Amino acid sequence: MKAIDVINDLKRRFPNEPEYLQAVQEVITTIEDAYNEHPEFERYNLIERLCIPDRIFQFRVSWIDDKGRVQTNMGYRIQHNNAIGPYKGGVRFHASVNLSILKFLAFEQTFKNSLTTLAMGGAKGGSDFNPKGKSDMEVMRFCQAFMTELTRNIGPSVDVPAGDIGVGGREVGFMFGMYKKLTHEHTGTFTGKGLEFGGSLIRPEATGYGNVYFLLNMLATKGIDIKGKRVAVSGAGNVAIYTADKLINLGAKVISLSDSNGSIYLPDGMTREQWDEIFKLKIIERGRIREFAEDHPDCCEYLDGQRPWNLKCDIAMPSATQNEIDGDDAQALLDNGCFAVSEGANMPSTPDAVHKFLNAKIIYAPGKAANAGGVSVSGLEMAQNAQMLMWSSEEVDAKLKSIMKNIHEQCVKYGKQSDGFVNYVKGANVAGFMKVARAMMGQGIL
Ligand code: NDP
Repeated sequence: MKAIDVINDLKRRFPNEPEYLQAVQEVITTIEDAYNEHPEFERYNLIERLCIPDRIFQFRVSWIDDKGRVQTNMGYRIQHNNAIGPYKGGVRFHASVNLSILKFLAFEQTFKNSLTTLAMGGAKGGSDFNPKGKSDMEVMRFCQAFMTELTRNIGPSVDVPAGDIGVGGREVGFMFGMYKKLTHEHTGTFTGKGLEFGGSLIRPEATGYGNVYFLLNMLATKGIDIKGKRVAVSGAGNVAIYTADKLINLGAKVISLSDSNGSIYLPDGMTREQWDEIFKLKIIERGRIREFAEDHPDCCEYLDGQRPWNLKCDIAMPSATQNEIDGDDAQALLDNGCFAVSEGANMPSTPDAVHKFLNAKIIYAPGKAANAGGVSVSGLEMAQNAQMLMWSSEEVDAKLKSIMKNIHEQCVKYGKQSDGFVNYVKGANVAGFMKVARAMMGQGIL
């Protein structure tokens, strides 16, 4: 089937899955030229087979809340593609979770994992369970109920889940504990585990740090120094916090963070002491970012219900969720002089926004390249578990830097245009696609 026919066919078959169709369309349109150079791919109907997940598990999760009421949520695991390694991808707990969102994430994960150079296929899972406002005991009971079903479909060389939105160290710990109880095995089935039971140093930091390392590689191609640059970061979760951490260390000015209720604006940039306070508020106490602004009216403004994209910045690092930068936001960023966007979140820019960034020829890195540091260190966690070893922070960080450099080189190789402009979207998609496509070709029609 021709690439365009695959898109139209998927639209007809999955009309109610907009995020999935958006991700598929973006990839297919950018790999078309590379695909057409290989007639054997079409004979093997490779694109269609690569777009449709290998399998999907969908299940009911029943659990009991603190008031003794029985609650019911949906649970999912999308095993998208294991051509280059065991299925690998995070678990998301958020009220908005549905099949379309998880299918888009699993599809993206397949290309991202391919880019890392490690042996990992693509997967994603989750639930419409909303952890906000739940007690630790409720979260634990939910995670255990979720695992009674998921356990039978995962394993260290089958499928290795990790965290994502709403799933951090606490949730991974509860899920891993139940998995261990049910299987009687202590294996590396889950990454992002606690350091005492097989976790890797630098895993919590890896997505944010990796995004900054990727940005440094991109800036180096233009001889730009990060020091003193004004950076707008969205989100205030795992990815955003460690992005801000690394930026502060490098002397950049972090002027914003956000959560789903609004943004904070720090015109003079975040200090190390302020970062420590926000870390405690958001990551340890699970508070709202508004509370920080209320405590610091002298140096911080709260933008109620707003995203930070109207602020004047040099660099934007969206690190909250999908489609958080629309066409108008992209235009506002460009009008305000933003010259680089590096995505910590998955698919945070709408197609309209991506179009605007590429047309303006600013430095723009899609999430599947820029945020691949998280899954890369997950891959390193799997390697450490397999060897029953634990590497030092320095060792893991050095490997992370080298992987991000390598991903950058692959993007440049496949994305550099004749005028010198690097289209990182095309570069990441083609590089990720070629490896998976060749692996699928080598394994026959399955
Ligand atoms: P967290 O749950 O730790 O944090 C998510 C942050 O984004 C919170 O501040 C949250 O605010 C905000 N947010 C979530 N949904 C929305 C929404 N609909 N609108 C506005 N703000 C929202 O998640 P992570 O930091 O782990 O993940 C952030 C992004 O990075 C996601 O796109 C994820 O897929 C991606 N990612 C994560 C990786 C990881 O290692 N964790 C790896 C690669 C990508 P609130 O508290 O109000 O919900």
